[in-house]
Amino acid sequence: MSTLTSNQLTLLTLAVKFGLLSSEKYQEVIDWDRSERSYLDDINAEKAREPVRPRQTVEVSAAKLAIQITLREIELASESVDGPQKQRELAKLNRQLDRCRRELKEIVATNGISRSRKPTFLDEKKPVRPSMPEPGAAALQFISELISFEHDLCFVATTSSQSTIEPLSNRDIALCLRWNEVSVDPRATNSDEIWARFEELNSYRQCQLLSARCAELIMQSYYSKLTSAVVDISIQQLDESSCDWKDYDLRVGDRPVDVKNARKSLHGHGNFVEHCVPRFKEQRVTGEHVAIAGVLSEYINDPAKYRFVRTSATVLGEVNVVDVRLLYSWAKKRFGAKLDLKGIWNSGYLPGWLFEYPDAHYPRRGSTIKAISALATRFIRAGAFVERLPGWMFVFCGDEALLESLPLDDRKRKVVADLRSLANSIGISRRSLYVYAMGIALEAIADGLSPDDDLDALRQTIVMPLTSRESEIQSSMLGLADPLGYVESIVKLLSVIGNRLLEMQMRFSGFRLTHPAILKGICTDGSTPTLLAYCGGWQAVPLKAKCGTMPLTIFDDELCPSCAHLVCPNCGYCSHLCPECKPRQLDFVQLVQSENGGGHRYTGDADDFQEDYLPDSTW
Ligand SMILES: [Zn+2]
Ligand SMILES: [Zn+2]
Repeated sequence: MSTLTSNQLTLLTLAVKFGLLSSEKYQEVIDWDRSERSYLDDINAEKAREPVRPRQTVEVSAAKLAIQITLREIELASESVDGPQKQRELAKLNRQLDRCRRELKEIVATNGISRSRKPTFLDEKKPVRPSMPEPGAAALQFISELISFEHDLCFVATTSSQSTIEPLSNRDIALCLRWNEVSVDPRATNSDEIWARFEELNSYRQCQLLSARCAELIMQSYYSKLTSAVVDISIQQLDESSCDWKDYDLRVGDRPVDVKNARKSLHGHGNFVEHCVPRFKEQRVTGEHVAIAGVLSEYINDPAKYRFVRTSATVLGEVNVVDVRLLYSWAKKRFGAKLDLKGIWNSGYLPGWLFEYPDAHYPRRGSTIKAISALATRFIRAGAFVERLPGWMFVFCGDEALLESLPLDDRKRKVVADLRSLANSIGISRRSLYVYAMGIALEAIADGLSPDDDLDALRQTIVMPLTSRESEIQSSMLGLADPLGYVESIVKLLSVIGNRLLEMQMRFSGFRLTHPAILKGICTDGSTPTLLAYCGGWQAVPLKAKCGTMPLTIFDDELCPSCAHLVCPNCGYCSHLCPECKPRQLDFVQLVQSENGGGHRYTGDADDFQEDYLPDSTW
């Protein structure tokens, strides 16, 4: 006999929503629960009135007496004539003694109350209480199964937030120096000496190198939680034991992995990042068999902070040029000229949405997906409301005939069919969901319609878990983690942009992604306005960092009269080839300095300013 927990109550409400329990039956379960609660309250009130029993009870004395008697009987039996009968008698008495001692122990352990010795009278027998009404119990069972599927789909072997296992060693600093073409023997140099040598570099460069090495160590720590075989190839550059470090940084099992680190920019909200890797890595041509692992690090501008503490960062996942090529082909087939993704791959700019975790990150996903067809069949046979079932059940259902027989509305059917096509060809991933969201929104805009209905259908299909609010895509989409919410951000942004473009009565024949973060419209009149961009400029004050403001849009930001690029409202940047850019940026610096009381001065060297400029001829 028990009452409903709050969790069971939530599950029962879900069962009503899914049509697995009628409102009347639900009410019966609630009434049953209420009556059980009041019965339990009565019993507890009764117990509270019972006097507290002292520790030394009659039972304890009786047990002790039984032991004494048995001991005396053993004594007497020992004195009798030797023979088989004496042996039998003694064995019997010893068993009895053991039993008496056990009983005493039990009585003491239960605070003087012996359950076994408590007399039970017929009229004190526990009354038989009614169990939960059967439809409620069956519905609970169904929903618990659903929740357990969701849990297994979303289950991750480790989190996206990882840290280095220990502070940086002499060898790590020697490697950072080597990246800067300085050779130091880490065994012949103590920690203070090697750090002193390192501090000869300007602090901006120090932070870049330290952040890059920490990212490698963080990825090592991450992979070692998924598999035991992780080899640090990067450190082999110190003793030149092999040349593999020229091509990749880690070997995970038999897979080569190239670690790309990026530091968060000031205004990018994780969308734009300053890639921060040693120069030789920038020139590295990542082979098709090499996975690029993305790490997003905090922006730390004091190198001393790296010396004694472990650093942490967000692991974004992996990508490889072949994955992106496949995504490009899928989108071309699905959206045709309405979405041209020619600029999606740019090895100098890898946005966080391009990455996805390796399979080992989701250890239960594969087996769970295989079992979804059977689950869907059981739910539908049980009379569930099909339109309210979670989207993952349709997207991953292997039974095509079952799916076709279901009464889904047209919009949902379209989204489910597209996601199934993705799942069965290139796979559901953060990047495929991101591109798909972009595709359906832009397709609607090209047709002169608001993208909201399609985006809502997508959101409802991928949102997880069931217990979350439906108005938001949570951190898990169809079981995949999206810790920085890239898919949710693009869905919101496209809704705003789409509706503004329709208000302005702009007509489009298609759209073009000319760079992973730059979207242009192709208007029916032939013009190609930039709808969405990011700031590729630098900020010098209050600290030197990539600006990364995103998004810049044609609605909120001005066009530079000289180069026709969008002007960043945070740093004044437009394009590094534009003659108006530098003077405007200097005005911004002066403005910020005067607002801050003139306390900040840019102190880095001028070359750094050019260092990470992205080729922006595609604007
Ligand atoms: Zn300009
Ligand atoms: Zn800017």
